[in-house]
Amino acid sequence: MNSQEVNSSSAMFNDSLMSADDALTFLLNSASVSNKTETVSLDNSLGRILASDIHSTINVPGFDNSAMDGYTIALDDSQVSQTNLSFDIVDRITAGSTGNDLKMGCAARIFTGAPIPKGANTVVMQEECELSEDGSQISVARAINLNENIRPTGNDILEADVILSSGKQIQPQDISLAASVGVGEIVVFKKIKVGVFFTGDELVEPGNPLSPGKIYNSNRYALVALLNQVGCDVINLGNIEDKLDATCDALETLETQCDLIMTTGGVSVGEEDHVKPAVEKLGELNLWKIRMKPGKPLAYGKVKQTPFIGLPGNPVSSFVTFCIFSLPFIKKMQGNTNYGSKILKVKANFDSKRAKPRREYARVRIDYSSETPLANLYPKQGSDVMSSVVWADGLIEIPENTTFEAGTILNYYPLSELTR
Ligand code: AMP
Ligand code: MG
Repeated sequence: MNSQEVNSSSAMFNDSLMSADDALTFLLNSASVSNKTETVSLDNSLGRILASDIHSTINVPGFDNSAMDGYTIALDDSQVSQTNLSFDIVDRITAGSTGNDLKMGCAARIFTGAPIPKGANTVVMQEECELSEDGSQISVARAINLNENIRPTGNDILEADVILSSGKQIQPQDISLAASVGVGEIVVFKKIKVGVFFTGDELVEPGNPLSPGKIYNSNRYALVALLNQVGCDVINLGNIEDKLDATCDALETLETQCDLIMTTGGVSVGEEDHVKPAVEKLGELNLWKIRMKPGKPLAYGKVKQTPFIGLPGNPVSSFVTFCIFSLPFIKKMQGNTNYGSKILKVKANFDSKRAKPRREYARVRIDYSSETPLANLYPKQGSDVMSSVVWADGLIEIPENTTFEAGTILNYYPLSELTR
């Protein structure tokens, strides 16, 4: 990994409020693209990031072929555009075989994908051909033109075309295209390893009883699921005793094995938590107060040379800041050139009479029955209300320092895109 130093002396990062856009820009500038690659089979390539361009060494299709089951004909000049013509059937060409050269005025039975024989210049689909009783001739009532139903050589791909570019995340259709040019293995970036652990005296693992004042550790499961979904290898140390030594040990263990370390909670200012002093002891840490809701506190730093991201503790804040900030950061590290969040436009079905200083990523459900999709707010938008995320289709961006009427078009991030 290349590294870019965190410029902690900049006024922007000195515990002052920071805009969401600045925080994202800073993170993306700090993310270095993995330089480790490996070769995988096509069957194992789904979701991986291509590490070099794939060129085709062949034309696809490699030969002119029939787009239909029917008859291929060698029309002579006088027959072009004429109606009611008859032709002797002199050959039968199935997909995978090759036919003989076709003489002028003759036809050959042909099947979809079979090569057009030399001399043939058009294909008529079988539904339009009438076969003589003895099967030796066809007649076609309608006018026939040249080059009907022929898929020409290179119609899909030309030799030397770049069919897939480095930095692309492999989808099933990409696998199809690679296979179609005969590529069976591809070079992808190695999965990045993300180390996680959790602290907080209030946290209890699901499956255990809760004693007074305790809550279940839900962030741990959300974070691991999000990281798995985006194709990271996760090293999960689980809950670490809230002591400085134990926290330093956890960070050092992860630092040697991981490309990124992440935690949730304990990054609010004045927190009774050892993550902050431990990261500071082993590297450097910036605690940012981001002008956004949910998710004001976010920590970014380094444990020795390994980047560290500390997400806020409130479950909605943790989830949303992962999606908005960490996911593009991780995608860039993975070598994915398409790391920016996908932003759509929807109409707010609510107004905002008071301008607020913090940008809001509100949980909304989309009503697609109107001409422009309409965004409806979940009634409770607290950063502790995880039900809002489960209910929502996505997040709507309510801009800072503005008022607006219902019907205003705003940026919208579908959760389906935002979490992968
Ligand atoms: P903190 O950022 O540590 O001050 O935590 C803010 C809020 O998030 C508190 O109500 C915590 O109890 C809660 N919280 C912190 N970590 C977790 C977690 N892993 N799972 C669920 N809630 C958490
Ligand atoms: Mg805490």
